[in-house]
This record gives sequence, structure tokens and C-alpha cells, in this order.
Amino acid sequence: MAAGIRRITLVALLMVALAGCTPPNGVAYQYSTINALLEGVYDGEMTCARLLQHGTFGLGTFNALDGEMVVIDSAVYKIRTDGKAYRVGAGETTPFAMVTSFEPNMIFNIEHDGSPTLEQLLEFKVPESNLIQAIRIDGQFKYVKLRSVPKQKRPYRRLAKIVEDQSVFELKDVRGTLVGFLIPPHFANVNMPGYHFHFITEDRSRGGHVLKCRTGHVQMQIDEIPEFHLVLPETGDFLKAKLAGDRSAELEKAEK
Ligand SMILES: [Zn+2]
Repeated sequence: MAAGIRRITLVALLMVALAGCTPPNGVAYQYSTINALLEGVYDGEMTCARLLQHGTFGLGTFNALDGEMVVIDSAVYKIRTDGKAYRVGAGETTPFAMVTSFEPNMIFNIEHDGSPTLEQLLEFKVPESNLIQAIRIDGQFKYVKLRSVPKQKRPYRRLAKIVEDQSVFELKDVRGTLVGFLIPPHFANVNMPGYHFHFITEDRSRGGHVLKCRTGHVQMQIDEIPEFHLVLPETGDFLKAKLAGDRSAELEKAEK
């Protein structure tokens, strides 16, 4: 009898431990705020290992603004200014990222004779709502215009200034995945209202922050997310940064 109870306890403990490893569904997990990034808060203590505990899919950047982050299928990639994607280790840190476990509510297979822009595709398929939408688009891309930003040194300049030095690259007729979010306007100052996509090729060799895109045949999956979990940095520049106020004009310059 006593052995039986011990066994049950062990199974229960194991289940709790396993549950701790699986990111929860329907939660967008974000570290720091977009206004902090615009203000030049480029160092954070959030590790990729901790991010992956909260999501398998998402985007962001790395400490010292060292490249664009793509999180896909529980792997984290860094796209540097050479346009190449590098798989990064669990200990790498980020000053800004958003992830979610990706459990789509809607799946569309889009076969199109033309080459619609990303905006046309999204306008047609993504529901208008005040919820965060995680969007994954896999397939053939006719054209993708991408960028990455160079690693910074202290004293850090503002983000809108740094994007003047961004590297831009174009890919044509390539298979890959768009990883992104639609953030509703009421999240202004915390995240970037509107669409935000990063791209990675199917062979995981190239990518970047998406500036322009035309698709071929693709599959679009949408995960409508009702819950938002914000984690703020407890040390460093964040604590003294001026984070209030409308930064939409500066954001337009930095991210579009
Ligand atoms: Zn981006």
C-alpha cells in the first residue's frame, strides 16, 4: 500500500515537472516594452532558455541589438547584417521579445494566380479584433525585402537613428516562413501596433525583419490570443528610461 502511494506521488511529481516544460496555450509572453527599445534600452537579462519555456514561436532582438530574432518550432535564430541566420544557444540574452506557444485557431491554404502583397493577404484573412493574433505563413515567396541592424556599442543611440545603418537584402522565389504578430492599437507604448513579421528560409539559412513581401502559394495559420504576460527588466537602463508618451512617428521610422 505504502509503495503504491509513493508511486502515485512520483507520477504526480513527474507530471508537474513535465507541465512546467510545456509553454501554456493562448498566452503572449513579452519581455520589456517597445518604448524601452526605442529609448535605447538594448540590454536585458531574459535568456533564450527562459523565453522557450513560455513559447515556441515569436520574434525580438538580442542584447546590444545584435540582429533580428526568429523563434520557430522551439529553435531561436539570429539574423545578422550579413542576412544569414545563426542558431543561438540557450544562454543568449534579449532586451525585447514576444513569444507564444503556437496553437492555430484558423488555417488557410492560399493558392493565388498573382503575387499578392502581404498586406493584401492579411487584410483578406486576419479577423479584426482587439486580441493579439500570432500569424505563421509557410510556403513560396515571390519576393521578400528584409533588414537587420548592426550590433551596437555603448553609449547606445536611439533606435530610429540606428536603422539608418541597417542592412537591407532581397530574396526572390524562396521557400520559407513568416513569423509574426498583429498587435491591436490599445497596446501602443508596450508593443508595436499593427503587423510585425520576421522571415526565415525553409533551410533556416537566411532571414530578417520584413520590410516588403509578395507571396506565392502559402499556408496561413492564425492563433488568436486572449492572454498577455508582460515581464519587465529588473536591472539596467530600463529602470531610468523615459517610457511614457506617443512614439508612433519614431516607431514608423524604426520598424516599417
Ligand atoms: Zn522586427
